[in-house]
Amino acid sequence: MTGAPSIPADDDVLLRATDVTKHFALRRHGLGPRPIVQAVDAVSLEVRRGETLGVVGESGCGKSTLGRCLTRLIDVTSGHIELAGREITTLSRRQLRPVRRDVQMVFQDPYASLNPRRRVGEIVGEPLLIQKQDRIAVRKRVAELLDLVGLSAAHTDRYPHEFSGGQRQRIGIARALAMGPSLVVADEPVSALDVSIQAQVLNLFADLQDELGLTYVFIAHDLGVVNHVSDRIAVMYLGSIVEVSSADDLYVAPAHPYTEALLSAAPEIDDGQDTGPRRERIVLTGDVPTPLDKPTGCAFHTRCPYRQDRCVTERPQLRVLGPGREVACHFPRITESPG
Ligand code: SF4
Repeated sequence: MTGAPSIPADDDVLLRATDVTKHFALRRHGLGPRPIVQAVDAVSLEVRRGETLGVVGESGCGKSTLGRCLTRLIDVTSGHIELAGREITTLSRRQLRPVRRDVQMVFQDPYASLNPRRRVGEIVGEPLLIQKQDRIAVRKRVAELLDLVGLSAAHTDRYPHEFSGGQRQRIGIARALAMGPSLVVADEPVSALDVSIQAQVLNLFADLQDELGLTYVFIAHDLGVVNHVSDRIAVMYLGSIVEVSSADDLYVAPAHPYTEALLSAAPEIDDGQDTGPRRERIVLTGDVPTPLDKPTGCAFHTRCPYRQDRCVTERPQLRVLGPGREVACHFPRITESPG
């Protein structure tokens, strides 16, 4: 999944998000206004056909909410999402039906996302049966899908509890592929799996992309995992993107202090390749802010080891650092892209 050009050509863009914002209003306690969680704050990104865009950040940074916005599982508060040049932000439920065929999600917990009372054949074939496809054709297609993800037709009549975590995620992937989507948004798809199984499932994602020409948005908290699968990476902090880069550049020379800290803490994926010497671990201190009450200026200033006075008052905007590379920091760790 690596090696693709880092700047999407315009007509190659499958998904474009512009200023996507998602706020949640919480229950009011006493008098006063309802507290607002600013889960996603004016995120803009593009995903080119056939590439993998990784989205990485700590738990609570808004990356899963962003994934649900991009797939229209939830409505955005403001902003625009285009799929293959078509605005999908304002489509009604009925108008969204063809979009749902084209955009699918794979979820974190393969057990929770599979109905334990249904057989694998029913789970994988359900999207096809909803489309009123013939049962014999569905059974044949389910067998193909199971084969595609490294399972077999012999598994069709079994229940989810009869499978390992890695196999259950394969079932989830087969279901996501049933309708032949062009875009798959995978939300922490390996974080519930043993480390020994993670590389196998990541390799499956790569093989499926090669075979089916899929486009991925790959969401995870672990930069090691995201770097392993992505062509480009967007780093999120408190609802905003703070750095976008090709995976290679980001790995060699992170520009944002938060990316640098994430990278220093990322475990390696054991795929047998030499990844060079380990980095010095950067331990972030200071309070982790809440999206209910974001810090002034740079949202990362309460934890940033390089903070200066300007950071406390002035919010840094994403700015171009080099080809395909943007960073939101007044004092980035590098001043130009290594590429
Ligand atoms: Fe750190 Fe300042 Fe950059 Fe924010 S703007 S990441 S506080 S150096």
